[in-house]
Amino acid sequence: MPSCPKCKQPVDSQAVTCPYCNNPLKAFGHPGIPLYQSAGDSWLCDRCTYHLDDTCNFPQRPYAKSCTMFHDASLPLVAEEPPANQLGWMGIKNWLYRHRGIMAIALIILASIIIAM
Ligand code: SF4
Ligand SMILES: [Zn+2]
Repeated sequence: MPSCPKCKQPVDSQAVTCPYCNNPLKAFGHPGIPLYQSAGDSWLCDRCTYHLDDTCNFPQRPYAKSCTMFHDASLPLVAEEPPANQLGWMGIKNWLYRHRGIMAIALIILASIIIAM
């Protein structure tokens, strides 16, 4: 269960505001929009990917204490997926789904050969 960055009390992951200190936990009052907040006297930008690569143009940079676009620079931007050949049955299923057109034609040719024999 996540905790409120301000009062450190445990809060529901869908809570829009903290029920203990009324600190906003989501942006624009929407439970689907995360609002990242710095702890204590630190700034979010110090460890944000978009500050370090100089692509952020938000006016609160570099002293943002809360931000909707924050991304921790120590984490990859896109989660790496294991190669398809290491996924086992799911990898085979995905490969068959991606090549379903070729597989359908191969099955028709195979069925035709079997019928012709
Ligand atoms: S996206 Fe937010 S946290 Fe990141 S550098 Fe810009 S203002 Fe700072
Ligand atoms: Zn709180």
